[in-house]
Amino acid sequence: MIEVRFHGRGGQGAVTGVRVLATALYFEGKFTQAIPMYGTERRGAPVVAFLRVGDHRINERDLVHEPDIVVVLDPLLGRMVPVTEGLKEGGLVLINHPRSGREAGLGGRFKVATVDATNIALETLGRPITNTAILGAFAKVTGMVSLESLEKAVLKQWPGRIGEMNVRAVRRAYEAATEPVDVSNVEGVKVAPPRSRFERDVSSWRVFRPEIDEEKCIGCRRCYIFCPEVAITMEEKKAKINYKYCKGCGICYEECPVGAVSFTQERL
Ligand code: SF4
Ligand code: SF4
Repeated sequence: MIEVRFHGRGGQGAVTGVRVLATALYFEGKFTQAIPMYGTERRGAPVVAFLRVGDHRINERDLVHEPDIVVVLDPLLGRMVPVTEGLKEGGLVLINHPRSGREAGLGGRFKVATVDATNIALETLGRPITNTAILGAFAKVTGMVSLESLEKAVLKQWPGRIGEMNVRAVRRAYEAATEPVDVSNVEGVKVAPPRSRFERDVSSWRVFRPEIDEEKCIGCRRCYIFCPEVAITMEEKKAKINYKYCKGCGICYEECPVGAVSFTQERL
């Protein structure tokens, strides 16, 4: 039996990704178990989901504590969550990251493969929903599931045009995934200590950064009203972002009626 743990953020589709992968493996005659773990269900908050796959009926019902494989849907998540905790020696991490496995900020007695799932998702779906791209890379680097079964499972989950767009993301990531590399002599980035649950600083959640162009802002207050983190204030009829409280959800960018908010990927 192989156990996989997925780490993502609310809105990146980790739970759906695990379900699609379990369906694809089922199409190949495997026994599978997809376990979602719901937390605060807040967009941008860290989420985790689990998958078991084997050739025989799976009786375990516990969460996965010592995975063979860890899949990380967000390039910055490893700085705030110990994503490799419990990973078996010689195990594999597949992470959404634009650089090679040795430059992804992870080190230890395991291997790391990468794929730039964020950019693939932006180019194929128009949104940074990275689950299907990471699944394409998963098929390539693990060899556990065929591209054909994965595409069939994607189309079962999203019939029609959305499914076709996600199939393109799967194929692009399958081609783009890097080979797993040993990182036993790499020093990983230290994980920040957990904060108090009353701490409002969510800046480390941000993968995309909104910027307000003061010249274009007409002071309509839509961003101020809709921001779920109350990160926007109005000063002299212009919107201002307090980046400490901004999690990069993009709602201000989507809501601005005059295109005064730009939204670009944070530099890693
Ligand atoms: S400022 Fe914009 S991107 Fe940041 S949390 Fe508020 S709505 Fe989301
Ligand atoms: S939604 Fe756009 S125009 Fe309106 S206050 Fe915010 S930045 Fe300014």
